[in-house]
Amino acid sequence: MRGRIATLMMHTSPLDQAGIGDAGGMNIYVVESALKMAAAGVDVDIYTRATDPYLPKIVEIAPGVTVRHIEAGPFKGLTKEELPTQMGALTHGVMEVFNSLPKNYYKILHSHYWISGQLGWMLSERTSIPLVHTMHTMARVKNLHMADQESPEPEIRAIGEEQIVKNAAALIANTDSEAASLVSLYGACPDTVFVVAPGVDLKRFTVGAGKAAARVKLDIAPDAQMITFVGRVQPHKGPEVLVRAVAEMLTHSPHMRAKLALVIIGGASGAGSAEPERLKDLAKFLGVDDVIHFMPPIAREDLPDWYRASDLVCVPSYSESFGLVALEAQACGTPVVATAIGGLRTAVADGISGSLVDGHDPRAWSAVISRLLADPARRITLSLGAISHAANFGWESTARRTLDVYDWVLSRGEETSIKLAQ
Ligand code: UDP
Repeated sequence: MRGRIATLMMHTSPLDQAGIGDAGGMNIYVVESALKMAAAGVDVDIYTRATDPYLPKIVEIAPGVTVRHIEAGPFKGLTKEELPTQMGALTHGVMEVFNSLPKNYYKILHSHYWISGQLGWMLSERTSIPLVHTMHTMARVKNLHMADQESPEPEIRAIGEEQIVKNAAALIANTDSEAASLVSLYGACPDTVFVVAPGVDLKRFTVGAGKAAARVKLDIAPDAQMITFVGRVQPHKGPEVLVRAVAEMLTHSPHMRAKLALVIIGGASGAGSAEPERLKDLAKFLGVDDVIHFMPPIAREDLPDWYRASDLVCVPSYSESFGLVALEAQACGTPVVATAIGGLRTAVADGISGSLVDGHDPRAWSAVISRLLADPARRITLSLGAISHAANFGWESTARRTLDVYDWVLSRGEETSIKLAQ
């Protein structure tokens, strides 16, 4: 298709730093796929809620990709969970912009996450622009795989998601496993569910000058045994598993202490706002605070060096619709140890680019991590596997496949109008 689409991502902005608060993989996904769609001739307007009165209403982030800020509710202090209370204001704000634009300005509405899906549903009904929706995470999937510290997602969110499933013209899932959950847990019609794998920026996330050079740059000892977590620090992402695994490792192999470093990069997020402090206390309690290093979120241009410098990147999430961090690390040549769940089973090729671990028993994680740390030759083999596995996932392909879904939706609309005309 050619033309322009409206992307709805209301609860977090594409301009936000990922890895803290509500900003994570979805923000990266929306921006990266928009950039590639624009390069393919489809302009993207990303609608998000204004969280600062001084933000310009329109920000062009690249040719063909524009962020539009919608005023709805207070600029500060409105949590993601409270955002559904502003649905009327959000609809009003977006419709005001739509009404100021020429007729048929947008061909498709594409919403991300259930709150924007609800908005998209309403806008689609009012404008007759077809709605494509991507969940990113789903309440019923999260509730099936909860960490001890987590509270379940409320059923009202699951109902909200079910309504979107029923009313969107097409749903995009990251993996076959997510597509299956949409059908089995939400009653989606399999014909309207499309699988589009996310990607990785293969120009930014590269092996670069290699591990040794990255360590010199970051001032990390050449012989450190460095395992790294990158992402929002919240129970669902499982950083606690790594803290406990490190404690296990040091109990069995105290000689590792001098060289071992667990680096946790990212900030507090959502309901887990006290999580970084809780983890620090836990590390102290377990007597491993000397080997655990907490880092604030790191800008994308600096992240590749952190991946390159690591011996292993660990993704111990309880559920994950994909896991961009896993792909980024592999593209930088670093093997990944991840939970054998959801999208991580696609993002990591078990035994080829890293290792998948069943469950969250710190003893199991410690066994897998120590074995890999003790075997540099195996890590080199996995590193080569990681680079070639990640090379299969470029954002161009994500954008191309997404455009195919839009074409499918638009061709269905044409079929319907032909039938009506007969
Ligand atoms: N991220 C970042 N800086 C950080 C931590 C994370 O830019 O300090 C980015 C990371 O590179 C990745 C995204 O945030 O692209 C996290 O995506 P992922 O799919 O791994 O997790 P999600 O946030 O979707 O749960």
